[in-house]
Amino acid sequence: MQVFKFGGTSVGTPERMKDVCKLITDDGTPKIVVLSAMSGTTNSLVEIADYVRKGNPEGAGIIITHLRRKYRAHIPELYATEEMRQCTRQLIDNIFLDIHDLCSLKFSDSIEKEILSKGELISTNMVTNYLKEQHVKAVLIPALEYMKIDRNGEPDMHYIREHLKHQLNANPGYDIYITQGFICRNAAGEVDNLQRGGSDYTATLIGASIRAEEVQIWTDIDGMHNNDPRFVEGTTPVRQLNFEESAELAYFGAKILHPTCIQPARIAGVPVRLKNTMDPFAPGTIINNEMQEGTIKAVAAKDHITAIKIVSSRMLLASGFLCKVFSIFDKYKTPIDMITTSEVGVSVTIDKTSRLAAIVERLKKIGTVQVDHEMCIICVVGDLRSENTGFETVATEALRDVPLRMISYGGSNHNISFLISMDDKQRALQALQDTIFAKSE
Ligand code: ADP
Ligand code: ASP
Ligand code: MG
Repeated sequence: MQVFKFGGTSVGTPERMKDVCKLITDDGTPKIVVLSAMSGTTNSLVEIADYVRKGNPEGAGIIITHLRRKYRAHIPELYATEEMRQCTRQLIDNIFLDIHDLCSLKFSDSIEKEILSKGELISTNMVTNYLKEQHVKAVLIPALEYMKIDRNGEPDMHYIREHLKHQLNANPGYDIYITQGFICRNAAGEVDNLQRGGSDYTATLIGASIRAEEVQIWTDIDGMHNNDPRFVEGTTPVRQLNFEESAELAYFGAKILHPTCIQPARIAGVPVRLKNTMDPFAPGTIINNEMQEGTIKAVAAKDHITAIKIVSSRMLLASGFLCKVFSIFDKYKTPIDMITTSEVGVSVTIDKTSRLAAIVERLKKIGTVQVDHEMCIICVVGDLRSENTGFETVATEALRDVPLRMISYGGSNHNISFLISMDDKQRALQALQDTIFAKSE
């Protein structure tokens, strides 16, 4: 069985939904199809929840009305029969009534997550009903029945595998199994999600659970580019990536993939193919176990990074200093991304800053602390084993005019990372593009 995932733009209009349906039914092979919310919907739901948080249900109401009107207008465009129009209109109206009800409750994180879940619930129902109207043997598998995260927010693989199997066995003989991306339940059984962009993660979790032959992630671009096309001119698609390389790129900011979605596919050995819904015959990018030797593949950037430098003469020739530093970050459940050390100090970067004040307070007991906000990690990914001499020089040389706060190399065979100010991000990315990829072409 193959797993196909379509992102927000791919199901962004009734026309696009029809294209997706054609695409998934063309070759007649059975598929699990993961769908995102229609583009813009989750952002609107975030805005609605934000009004509720601020105690302004009227503000929330205005966006709900606008969104509901938009969805109602899609119905006659999508369905041919009055019967299906009526049935889907009713379904969508009920979901919007739910949103209204949630907005009248006292705000909490779980109310927000319920509101955020509605986009995928609407899009999957719309597409399933369209397929049914087209006489395709399609069924909707509710993600809230099998997708689950544990107390640490990590996917509960055992639960997912067992409950997904149950859902599939309970619905034998269908050609297309539609399901919601992004949404799940947490350890307490409440509605939760896999973080923004999480539909990619849903797809690879399903792929790993059923040992799919391939997971295809369909989006609005022809695969992973060698640099961020939103900031850099002249980027080109990368045809093949190793699991490790793509995991690094996703984690360090390549928005085309959810930051951790490659992990389940890598562990299960399920290849991931990135494809363009707007250009289905373009080759896209294949992510698998193969390693193309001796090349730099791509560059990515992760924004809003905080750097913390701890300087202490006590570190000199003393053991246990780094252990003390790390245990403080561990105590506050704050992961460290980059680290560099010297005789008298250590610099680390973090992405999650909710416990920063408490961390700094503790660190000040063991050293002098400097915090820099709004930094950016630039990550250069490829075959960067030490035998491949010269690659680090090319990357560093490209950044000769950019102030570098940290450099990290050797943690894996696949990356060299630079910490710079976010103000320098665009020119740093362009300089790397012009130097590395111009040289390798
Ligand atoms: P979807 O809604 O289908 O999940 P996303 O917006 O999450 O799509 O991801 C696709 C977008 O990722 C592209 O339109 C592109 O702007 C952006 N992007 C950022 N970095 C890269 C990269 N290295 N290669 C391709 N696309 C990238
Ligand atoms: N709809 C969710 C979001 O916008 C999940 C996704 O699109 O992958 O973040
Ligand atoms: Mg996405």
